[in-house]
Amino acid sequence: MGLKELGKLIRENKEGIDVARIFSRDYDEAVLSLYGVSRPSSKKYKPSSINCIRACYYKLTDAEGKNNPKQPYVCEICEAGSDAHIRMQTVIQHMKGWEFIDVAQYIKDNNLDYLKVTGKTDTETKVLDTRYNISFFSDGIVRHIKSNRYFIFEGKTEKQEYWIKRKGVDEAHVAQSYCYSLSTKIEDVIFMYENRNDCKKKVFELNITPENRSSIITLITTCDSCINDSVVPVKPNNVPYKICLFCDYKELCEKHGK
Ligand code: SF4
Repeated sequence: MGLKELGKLIRENKEGIDVARIFSRDYDEAVLSLYGVSRPSSKKYKPSSINCIRACYYKLTDAEGKNNPKQPYVCEICEAGSDAHIRMQTVIQHMKGWEFIDVAQYIKDNNLDYLKVTGKTDTETKVLDTRYNISFFSDGIVRHIKSNRYFIFEGKTEKQEYWIKRKGVDEAHVAQSYCYSLSTKIEDVIFMYENRNDCKKKVFELNITPENRSSIITLITTCDSCINDSVVPVKPNNVPYKICLFCDYKELCEKHGK
């Protein structure tokens, strides 16, 4: 809304028009038009949704999931998460004793020719692992200069109630770090959880084993053959509660049973 129109509305308010309500409605409309547009689902594995083979199968076969209308505040929570990542990455670039590694450069320097950079900003790199059809945005790679150790960096923001109880890496985030490790061949991950209320942080290190990485290869090869045979994978019994709670395919999964 232009200044001229806003001025007109304010004048009209004196005549009984509820400007605050109109402003709020127009703001929400703008949020939805900016951030609420769904992108078509790509037929690629995503580390953030690799917790469940059945959910991967549904996603890659374009199964009908729940399509709830997006709420403006939910769109803004997602955007706030992206903003927080840029802030964290900017801070890391100024940390003494640590180097924030350019992911594209890391791929080149380590001859990871199976990784294709498909997008890049100053702080984020979008990568496709052509071996396993995994597409991901990397939050970054950091190097501890003194020990010359490389770590995958994973930043997370969460509600105060979750953050206060946090004592380690969330079980819902573990599988995605296996994916990153599989693609980059880096064995260690630094997870940093930020409290959305006051920006306080908790940091945890996770070490990834060859077995952890193999579990992702097994999931992907099994899922690919299920797709080829048009067979819904068996429902896994170890999917973290939070993942099922927010799963778009909950109804379909119940329908398919075990
Ligand atoms: S509801 Fe749970 S088990 Fe079923 S597809 Fe979703 S994440 Fe997987």
